[in-house]
Amino acid sequence: MAAELRRLAHNLSETSVEGSAGQRTAERLATEELDAGPLLEDALNGDTDAIARAATAGGYDPAAFAQLLELALQPVLWEAAARCAVLTDVDKWDRGYCPVCGSWPALAELVGAQKRRVLRCGRCGTWWSWLVLLCPYCGNDDHRALGTLSSDDSRDRVDICQHCHGYVKSIATFDSVPTARLAAEDAATVHLDVGAREAGYTRPGTVDVATAGIPRLVREGRARAGGD
Ligand SMILES: [Zn+2]
Ligand SMILES: [Zn+2]
Repeated sequence: MAAELRRLAHNLSETSVEGSAGQRTAERLATEELDAGPLLEDALNGDTDAIARAATAGGYDPAAFAQLLELALQPVLWEAAARCAVLTDVDKWDRGYCPVCGSWPALAELVGAQKRRVLRCGRCGTWWSWLVLLCPYCGNDDHRALGTLSSDDSRDRVDICQHCHGYVKSIATFDSVPTARLAAEDAATVHLDVGAREAGYTRPGTVDVATAGIPRLVREGRARAGGD
């Protein structure tokens, strides 16, 4: 991972604007001897405060520093996701956050002719089936408090929750998007994010830490609510 970080930093330092804060950070990370292990661990745990502190202490550009660490982790996360998929049936996962890395879904896919709803982790690419009328953030399954924002594009849409004011964008696709292309798909549908935010929704919604991502039915111990 430390080698991956150095390689990425080297590439970025060559391609970014000479003299910019990001370029200087990349150049330093590519050449300096840095104990990257603990930092990568912080990045893996999503400890953004620790990363920001380290960036400030080292005099790095905080945004470029954090982004390079996250990118260096990607091959590891993809590998972990692939192994998890082999070892367990992640498709049966019944929480709204990723079973492999704990991130919230970047988007949902409506796969195939049946439009099966599948949540996709933007960080490691893991996918798992999810009910259409179920908020992945607060677990709300009351159809009266769930809705869809209309979009000019009929292919894609945004599902919203009135309880937590969270939104999930959905893209219709024949096959699941390959993990390496997921970030591009996320970026290509940024107009959906803009529309949702303008309408007052966030990703994720405002959720209670204790119950975040747990469907109501699971919380009440009645049945497994994820999957179909
Ligand atoms: Zn993940
Ligand atoms: Zn919700």
